[in-house]
Amino acid sequence: MGKSLTVITGASSGIGAATARAFSGSGHPLLLLARRMERMQQLELPNAMCRAVDVTDRSAVTAAVKEAEDTYGPADVLVNNAGVMLNNPAAAQDPDEWDRMIDINIRGLLNGVHAVLPGMTERQHGTIVNVSSIAGRKSFPGSAVYSGTKHAVHAASEAIRAEAAPSNVRVIVISPGFVDTELSSHITDPEVRANYQAAEAALEGGLSATTVADAILYAYRQPHTVCIREIALAATGQT
Ligand code: NDP
Repeated sequence: MGKSLTVITGASSGIGAATARAFSGSGHPLLLLARRMERMQQLELPNAMCRAVDVTDRSAVTAAVKEAEDTYGPADVLVNNAGVMLNNPAAAQDPDEWDRMIDINIRGLLNGVHAVLPGMTERQHGTIVNVSSIAGRKSFPGSAVYSGTKHAVHAASEAIRAEAAPSNVRVIVISPGFVDTELSSHITDPEVRANYQAAEAALEGGLSATTVADAILYAYRQPHTVCIREIALAATGQT
């Protein structure tokens, strides 16, 4: 039997791109979603449908999943990875940045769930991997809203896991510490960004995106009777 369709959001860089390579190497057809189409195409993966979709656009996410399912068959894996981290102390932060994090990290993730979960439930098979963070268990100065969105990922995942378990659908949460990606480049305050990047540099960037992708694939590859509910992983030197 051929491998099943894997949907990966935020596949244009970092952890999402590494996860796309890992699942492709394992023979899965892919639906890759992000806004930067050219970066997904540059991955040059076989059987990969790339669509320039903003995950906050619910109908666009649903339409892209339907289109990919028409080509490759039902989506059996969703890696809900798209996210932004705009760290800034709450007193100084433009609330538009709060909205962006809430819209992408929470609503965007739920849009992915909405697009695949009814089909998985009906077929009584499927795996949803939600990418959270160490910041989904701990909060740090400057991360009030980012940590809030990632705590929400854990909370939503626990509830959806319990709801979906009788339908044989697994919900897995991956919680990395520092990973060497573009994530921190979007922090708008130069001083906050520099401090964050100094902490990253002290850990030589932290984990590689490939290490996180390997953890996602490891969890997915367990027999379907096993649900690894959560993997938290960080560079050994991270406190
Ligand atoms: P990157 O910035 O490299 O990747 C983020 C991805 O999300 C990009 O592909 C980006 O694509 C996509 N994305 C952002 N906004 C949207 C949107 N509105 N619609 C669709 N896609 C979007 O960072 P990472 O790989 O590090 O981040 C991936 C996930 O890992 C995030 O959820 C992040 O919170 C989490 N994480 C990262 C850690 C780290 O230290 N790097 C630590 C813990 C968790 P595009 O811009 O093309 O739309």
